[in-house]
Amino acid sequence: SVTDQAFVTLATNDIYCQGALVLGQSLRRHRPTRKLVVLITPQVSSLLRAILSKVFDEIIEVNLIDSADYIHLAFLKRPELGVTLTKLHCWTLTHYSKCVFLDADTLVLSNVDELFDRGEFSAAPDPGWPDCFNSGVFVFQPSLRTHKLLLQHATEHGSFDFGSSAKVVHFLGSTKPWNYKYNPQSGSVLEQGSAPSSQHQAAFLNLWWTIYQNNVLPLYQ
Ligand code: UDP
Ligand code: MN
Repeated sequence: SVTDQAFVTLATNDIYCQGALVLGQSLRRHRPTRKLVVLITPQVSSLLRAILSKVFDEIIEVNLIDSADYIHLAFLKRPELGVTLTKLHCWTLTHYSKCVFLDADTLVLSNVDELFDRGEFSAAPDPGWPDCFNSGVFVFQPSLRTHKLLLQHATEHGSFDFGSSAKVVHFLGSTKPWNYKYNPQSGSVLEQGSAPSSQHQAAFLNLWWTIYQNNVLPLYQ
């Protein structure tokens, strides 16, 4: 049954919530047949929790995994990886039989319900590291045992992170869509400082901002 399956994303602060909201509305535009779930950490404000509840069926608070939780050499070298590991908590959603995780910096371009036809573990190859998968979008089966094993593996070996696919855009890297300035008159992002690197990217950035303007900002009223 599809009521026990869900799209899942993660936002550990109010900034990443903007990404989660656009992702959620981009999913809703294409009439998903599964629940929409967002994992948040205690840092997310009550205002954003209220806005998230207008888009997501379920908001689940998890604790933030950061480098201070796991004192290991791999993390001492790459402390920024800590927060990203909070996504491993998605394996604790055992009231769902299968889920599709999407990073908060992804944007859905069409209905992606077909992803649920795939088994655990499915992910797209990373463009930069083709023999690795990209952790921005993946299909998984919640399991407390897997959760424990993944946390163990991450603390022992560290982690790295990765890419993109045809139906989902992943804005990976340090400059996120919400870091650009947008001109509502022209309906496009302002090309200043960090200009979008390709026309494709500019089109996706404009779509992100269009959804933000039309489907997210009105939720604040
Ligand atoms: N994330 C978050 N807060 C942070 C950093 C990351 O909630 O401060 C979550 C969010 O869902 C994000 C994912 O972890 O999409 C992975 O991080 P990011 O997308 O920044 O990494 P990249 O895809 O650029 O490697
Ligand atoms: Mn990402």
